[in-house]
Amino acid sequence: MTTSGVRVRIAPSPTGEPHVGTVYIALFNYLFAKKMGGEFILRIEDTDASRSTPEYEQKVLDALRWAGLEWSEGPDVGGPYGPYRQSDRKDMYWPYAQDLLDKGHAFRCFCTPERLDKMREDQRAAGKAPGYDGLCLRYSAEEVTAKMDAGEASVVRMKIPTEGACEFNDGVYGDVSIPWNSVDMQVLIKADGMPTYHMANVIDDHLMKITHVARGEEWLASVPKHILLYRYFGWDEPKFMHLSLMRNADKSKLSKRKNPTSISYYSALGYLPEALMNFLGRFFVQIAEGEELLTMDQLAEKFDPDNLSKAGAIFDIQKLDWLNGRWLREKLTPEEFIARTFEWASENQRLTEGLKLSQSRISKLGELPQLAGFLLANDVGLTPVSFAGLKTTPADTLEIINTVQADFEKMPEWTVESIDQELRTIADKLGKKLRVVTPPLFVAMSGSSRSLPLFDSMALLGRSVVRQRLKIAATVVASMVGVEK
Ligand code: GLU
Repeated sequence: MTTSGVRVRIAPSPTGEPHVGTVYIALFNYLFAKKMGGEFILRIEDTDASRSTPEYEQKVLDALRWAGLEWSEGPDVGGPYGPYRQSDRKDMYWPYAQDLLDKGHAFRCFCTPERLDKMREDQRAAGKAPGYDGLCLRYSAEEVTAKMDAGEASVVRMKIPTEGACEFNDGVYGDVSIPWNSVDMQVLIKADGMPTYHMANVIDDHLMKITHVARGEEWLASVPKHILLYRYFGWDEPKFMHLSLMRNADKSKLSKRKNPTSISYYSALGYLPEALMNFLGRFFVQIAEGEELLTMDQLAEKFDPDNLSKAGAIFDIQKLDWLNGRWLREKLTPEEFIARTFEWASENQRLTEGLKLSQSRISKLGELPQLAGFLLANDVGLTPVSFAGLKTTPADTLEIINTVQADFEKMPEWTVESIDQELRTIADKLGKKLRVVTPPLFVAMSGSSRSLPLFDSMALLGRSVVRQRLKIAATVVASMVGVEK
């Protein structure tokens, strides 16, 4: 039980591969709870039903658990303020919206998506920031009832003061003032009856007794909406802390197009969770020279929420590699090292599945490393020579790889069947036979044209490793196209 009353949470939306940025924010909250003797809670924010999937939710749970960030309340472990998945709470939100409508803090908006698109377009053309123009505020209660009775679709929007500014104190940014006229009349309940992020987030943080909201800086601009909701409901607001996002060395936003951002990529390549947490935790603590290797307990010990920096955390892979190497060499006993190696190789059954795929293709066990080693390798050593034996021209090979790269991003599921289906669709789209499309992909995945079945291999490698190998393959083949010209 909590001794300090501190309750913090990580509230991921399960709409994609678990991102290192999510783990970074989760680690902050986890260390904060640990330092303060509080509770760390996991809440799944899946109000965007079109993008959230149970598969991604499971991956979020797996990633946080892999990282060692155990939660004391959550969708899988329950707790006193559950359910902890917003789709399971959907009936809880409406009475709060009704309350806001009754008190005149919110209004029904009947504007069609077409009208809203046109409105935004006009605002942009006039050089104004896009935002709802308040058209539906003019309807009387009778007019609203008549429209509702006629079956007109509507959303619920919050009213926003027209003058003054929202003043608040942020644990990182200090005193902040955001003019109300820059805040949009946010939709709270969508036409399908589901709450938006803002509505569900505020209600849940209140009902779950969250005392401190620590999240990415991209939410700072939303704080006025949230504070206003707390005031409309008559609730105390939590303390806000907006953490700078992690960035690439060139200060650009961390994006999977530049560097792998999925936790599954780092676990697949054999980074130790302790090393990754050590790497991410460094941004929250002061570290003395020679004291770089820190365990979670040591990070929590050094953690000081009153001394947070606005400077962006740089995701420097070389630094991570250095720390990971030191963890492997200095912090594990030989027995632990061996156990961890087996654990890593067996992750997601890739070792057993890889062996099953290999059995029908070998004549001696000694051929296994060459045949199936690519399933565990960090880098398959692609060079122009790897692609030189293909029947397709480099330009065609590049087109295939680029198309697969782009279309794989749109695949909701990652299974042998879905990969099979997608590659057939891509072959049709390119007007090529499947057997023409697959050889370059074999090479991209394994570095060799003799390897294990492609669809199974891709499924075993996982989306994030496949993405990275395709990216490397595209760079190598592009250099060949350049040479050919
Ligand atoms: N669901 C939001 C996200 O994934 C949570 C933001 C917050 O912590 O309030 O970013």
